[in-house]
Parts: sequence; structure tokens; C-alpha cells
Amino acid sequence: WRALDAAHHLHPFSDTKALNAEGVRVITRAEGVYVFDSDGNKILDGMSGLWCSQVGHGRHAIVDAMAQQLYQLDYYNTFFKTTHPAAAELAAAISEVAPAHMNHVFFTSGGSEAVDTVLRMVRHYWAALGKPEKHIFISRRNGYHGSTMGGASLGGMKPMHAQGGLPIPGIIHVAQPYWWAEGGEMSREDFGLYAAREVARAIDEAGPENVAAFIGEPIQGAGGVIIPPANYWPEVEKICRERDVLLICDEVICGFGRTGRWFGCEFMGVKPDLITFAKGVTSGYFPLGGVIVGDHFAEGFIEHGGDFNHGYTYSGHPGGCAAALANLKIMHEEKLVDRVRTDIGPYLQERWLKLAEHPLVGEARMVGLIGAMELTPDKSTRAAFAAEEGTVGLICRDFSFKEGLVMRAVRDGMILAPPFTLSHEEADELVATAW
Ligand code: PMP
Repeated sequence: WRALDAAHHLHPFSDTKALNAEGVRVITRAEGVYVFDSDGNKILDGMSGLWCSQVGHGRHAIVDAMAQQLYQLDYYNTFFKTTHPAAAELAAAISEVAPAHMNHVFFTSGGSEAVDTVLRMVRHYWAALGKPEKHIFISRRNGYHGSTMGGASLGGMKPMHAQGGLPIPGIIHVAQPYWWAEGGEMSREDFGLYAAREVARAIDEAGPENVAAFIGEPIQGAGGVIIPPANYWPEVEKICRERDVLLICDEVICGFGRTGRWFGCEFMGVKPDLITFAKGVTSGYFPLGGVIVGDHFAEGFIEHGGDFNHGYTYSGHPGGCAAALANLKIMHEEKLVDRVRTDIGPYLQERWLKLAEHPLVGEARMVGLIGAMELTPDKSTRAAFAAEEGTVGLICRDFSFKEGLVMRAVRDGMILAPPFTLSHEEADELVATAW
């Protein structure tokens, strides 16, 4: 497999030459919260695959539901004038768990497509309402919103903009609520307000009549699990409402229970106009994503929108819809979102936060089942290691694999997002390995 992979398979997020020399890790099987590699290692999946395995691996009920669906109907499109039972049922099931004011869904096959959809949909909406000049999107530095041209542009990670033509025009990046990196001497709360007001500043400079929407993750995931101060999101919402700018929460990571609420916006106490989702909706058993649309936006869109020429071949794929329905059934039956909020979440948090006592850990943070630890040679200053940015994290990632725990390297730290089915014993194992 390694030889085949090296000969034929590209891994663009890595230096392919170095990876081929080193030998890629081959994951062959997964069960519960563990993955197994071709060298016979059993590794605790502290990242839920890629933030997607809410209900854990090896759930036959999901696979069986997909098989039944695919025997019945393998494919039909859902964006011309047709639908199918699983797509209609899933749209209703998602509306049921979404915030009360959000009751319409459009499907995609993943998160980047969902983000591209809001870019186009929101601009279409404003144009339909007679305000075509309202087209600018505000997003944040170091945010991640996907790998398509739209997603990579809304994302604020510099390496994602290294190729020509990125970001696409009409996007302004503002501060993230990451007070330690950007806040200098400010207190956490002051920085929450400062970062929110940078949104206001950006909108006012561009002219509110030109600004379509603000997009951000309730908790920034790939950017390093940045948990904003409590005052940040309510202030951003107020700023957007005062300026008639739509609010979009990218819930590709936070959605479907990760924070202990069904959606991260509920955890942060805000009511977005649109939500993008993917990953946890199927627990990764089949690619599916989409956009949840608030009632107010839906009314305008349906009343004035007319034709909106947008849709993906695999929007609402029957296999994905069946996987999502079976996944949501498990989440309801096993009360997994409650479990994250009241049981395994607090249990792991208590132990995870103690990692801050380790001489090399600057900060440990976690809400629900999403957390991070930052590494530093000097706890008093929390300065980053002098190595090239990200290097220490990368060494730790390699180390964590060898020790039997998958975590993900970011900047100079490690991030964590285990499945919701993690037992207390597995949580103890996880923390002991991380230490
Ligand atoms: N938005 C966010 C917040 C994400 O974390 C991701 C993926 N990590 C995406 C969008 C893109 O989703 P996908 O990889 O499914 O296209």
C-alpha cells in the first residue's frame, strides 16, 4: 500500500517528497474510538477522524441503512424539480434539531461546497431584494472554511492564499477572538469586544450598503480551537443586525453536538441567518453537507429569489441522507449531545485542563468535546517555541501517533475532538497518553 500510495496518490497538505521518503501511515480498520494501522497498531482516535465521527466507528446500523437505501434508490438529483424520501426526511430531521428559527435546508456533498453555497446564495438574496451592491463578505484571519476557491478565500490562513488569484475579490479578513496571539496586554474580555468591534470597523469602512454577510465558526477549529470570550458573539450579532448584514455560522466542526449543544451558535448565544454544516451530520459514514436557512432569510429568498442556478450532482445523495438519518437516530437514542454536555464532556475537561500543569503546556482549553493544548518553553511568557511555526506541533503529532493517540498539530500546539461515545476509561487513557 505504501508503495502504491507513493507511486500514485498525492497528499497536497504534506510535502509529498518527504512523506514518500518517510512512508505514509496506512489506516486499515476502525472500531469504536480506535483506528488500526497496517503495522498492527491500535490508536485512540482523538480527532474523530477529521472532526466527524460523533457516534464512533463501526456502527453497523448506519451501514445497513445506507445499504437498504442504495438497493432501493442509488441516485437521483435533489436540486432540479425532484426529491426523494430520504432527502425530504433528512431536511425535516435537521430542521427539528436546528435552532427554532431555522427550518429550511439545502444539501451539498461537503463543507467547502456548503461554504461556496452561502457565498452565492447570500449574494443572490441581496440582488433579488434589489441590493446587488451588497456583496462583500467579512471573515476572520486564521479561519478555515474549506479548500474550494470560495472556501479558501473566506478562510484566513495565509498558506491557503499562496496560489495566484486568492483570495477572490470582495472578502475582508478581520481579527479572530484569539486574545493571546493578537491581544497583547488586553484582558480576554476587552479583547472579545475589540475583536467584535473590528467587525464593525470593517463593515463601516466598506460601507454597510456594500456588505452582504459576516461568516465565522462559533469556535474556530482548524485555526487552533479558539474559544471566544462570552461577550464576542453577542456583540458581533448586534453589530451585524444594526448594519443589516447577515450572520453566518460555519458549523462544519461545531455542529451536531460538538460543544454539547446541537449547534455551536446556541452555545455562544447567537441566532445566525444561515448555518453551514457537514462532517458530524453523517458521522463521516458518507460525504454530505449543507446549509440551514433561517425563516426570515427563507421568506425573502422564496418570495423574491426566483431561479437560483446552483446545485451539485451529489446534493442530498440518497446514501448520504440515509447515513445522516441513521446517525441522527443513534444520537437521539443514545442522548449523545446530552452526554457531551453533562457527562463525558465535563469528565474529560476536568482532566484535560490539568495538562496546563505540565511544564511545557502554556494553556489547555476545552468545551464540550473540542479542546487544545498550547506548548511553550516558558510558561510565564507563553512564548512559542523558537522553531519554525508549527514544527513543534508536527513533532508532537508524529509522537502522538507512535504513542497510540491521534491528535492534530496546529501552530505550536495540539488539538483534540474525540467521538461522543468515548468512555471514562478511554478518556483516562487519552489524558495519560497526552501527558
Ligand atoms: N468549514 C470548516 C469550519 C471546516 O472545518 C471545514 C473542514 N475541516 C470546511 C469548512 C470544509 O469542509 P470539507 O472538508 O467537508 O469540504
